[in-house]
Amino acid sequence: MTRQPQRAGSAQVAAGPAQAEVALPWILAVLLRGLRAILWFAGAGAAISLVVALLQPRRYTSSFSFFPQSVSGQGTDGLAALAGQVGISLGAVGGSSQPPQLFAALIETREVLGPVAVDTVATTGSGTERVPLAEFLGISGADGPPPVVLERTIEALRRDVISTGVAARTTGVVSVRVRTKSPQVSLAIAARLLDGLNRYNRQIRQAQAAEERRFIEGRLGAARAALRAAEDALQRFLQTNRQFAGSPQLSLQRGRLERELALRQQVVTGLTQQSEDARIREVRDTPIITVIEAPLNEERSLAVIADVKKLIPNKPIRYLVSTHHHWDHLGGVRAYVQQEGVTIVLQQNNHAYYAEVLTVRPWTLKPDRLALAPPEEVAEGYTFETVGQKYVLTDGTKVMEVYNVQGLAHAQGMLMAYLPKEKLLIEADIVDTDRPLPATPTRDMTSFYKAAQMLKLDASQIVPIHGKPIPWNDFVKVAGGSKSN
Ligand SMILES: [Zn+2]
Ligand SMILES: [Zn+2]
Repeated sequence: MTRQPQRAGSAQVAAGPAQAEVALPWILAVLLRGLRAILWFAGAGAAISLVVALLQPRRYTSSFSFFPQSVSGQGTDGLAALAGQVGISLGAVGGSSQPPQLFAALIETREVLGPVAVDTVATTGSGTERVPLAEFLGISGADGPPPVVLERTIEALRRDVISTGVAARTTGVVSVRVRTKSPQVSLAIAARLLDGLNRYNRQIRQAQAAEERRFIEGRLGAARAALRAAEDALQRFLQTNRQFAGSPQLSLQRGRLERELALRQQVVTGLTQQSEDARIREVRDTPIITVIEAPLNEERSLAVIADVKKLIPNKPIRYLVSTHHHWDHLGGVRAYVQQEGVTIVLQQNNHAYYAEVLTVRPWTLKPDRLALAPPEEVAEGYTFETVGQKYVLTDGTKVMEVYNVQGLAHAQGMLMAYLPKEKLLIEADIVDTDRPLPATPTRDMTSFYKAAQMLKLDASQIVPIHGKPIPWNDFVKVAGGSKSN
C-alpha cells in the first residue's frame, strides 16, 4: 500500500543532479577513457529533467499523520471486521498484526474517497469560486455520466493525488500526503480524508459495541433465567425440608444449592457490568437523544418514541429527564425504560418512588410491556441519574443543563432543563400557558424566576410541559416586574 511520491515537479529538480553524482564514480571506474562524453551525457540528462520539471505545473502537498488505535480495545478482530466491510482482505495489507496498514488502505477505499470525489473544491483563497473536483483534476470527459466521472475521479485521487506511508516497523504512524496544483485544494482534500476516516472509524466502533451489547444482553437473559431457576430450587428445598440440621445429606444438598445460586448471581453481575460498558462505548461520541418528560401511560410514550425516531432517525434515545413525580409527567417512564433502556434523570428526592414505579410487577391496571418483559437494569439500579442541583447532558455539540428548582409549593423540588445555545428554558407546572398568566405571580413562579436569575440563565423562551412556548420577557412582566430585568 505504501506508495512513493511520483513525478512531482519540485522533487524532480533536485533529482537530476543527484542522479549524475551517484552515476559518476561507477562509470569513471569502468570507462575511464570516455570521461568527457560521460560528463556531457550526465549534464544533458540533468538539463532535460530540469526542463521537464519546469514544464510541469507546480504541486502543493498537504500531509497529516495519525496513530490508529485498535478498535474499542477489541484487538484486531474488530479490524478484521472493518476490513471485511470495505472489501480488503487482511492478508493483502500485511495481516492483522499490522493494523496501521489497514488504515492506510482504508483511506483509498471508495467509502472514504467517494464523498471527496463528488465534492466541489474552492480554487481561490476566498473560496468564492468552486469547481467540481473532477474538473479541477482535469479528468477527461468530466461532463460525462456521473458514475463514470466518479470512477475516474476516484482513480485519479488514488493514482496522482493521495499517497500514504506507514512506519510499520517502528511507530505504526500512518502518514498521508495529498498533492495537487492548488494549496487550498490539497488542504481541503486532506481535511476531508481525515474527517471521513474518523467518521468511518467511529461508526465501526459503535456498530461493534452495539453488536457486543446485544450479544451480552442475550447472554444476560439466559443467565437471569438460570439465576431464577437456582433461586427457585433453593426455595423449594427450604420449603420441603424445614428441619435438615440432623441430616448430613440434606445439609450437603442445601450447601450445593446455595453455591449454585451464588455462582449464578456472580455471572449475572459480571454480564450486567459488561453490557453497561458496551452501552457506554456505543454512545461515546454519538449524538444521542434526550427526551424530557414521559407523561401519562405506555401508549402515549410509545407514540412519542415512534415520532422521535421518525424525526431523528438512527440515533438512540438514551436519557429521559423527568421533572417531577406527578402522574401526568411520570406515567410513561416504564415504557421508555422497557423500550429504549433509557437512563432516567430525576430529582434526587424522587429516587425511591421512581424505583418503586419501575419495579412494580405485575402492573395491575393494565399489564404494560415492562411488566411483561422487565429489562435487567431496573433491578440493578442502573437506570437513574439523580440531580441534586445541576446535571449536564451533552454529546459534545449540544448541551442540556438540568437544574433542581427549590422552594415550590407544587412539589418538593422539580427539574427544569435549560438549553444554553438555543436559549430555551423547559419547565413543568410552574408556568402553564394553557391558561392565561395570572396578574400576580404565584409563589412557584417567583421561586422559578429567582432560580433562573441566580443561575444567570439567558433564556429567550419558556417551553412549558403544559402549553405553548412563550417569550421569557412575557413571563418576566408577571414574575419579575418590568424594571428588574
Ligand atoms: Zn405536577
Ligand atoms: Zn403537570
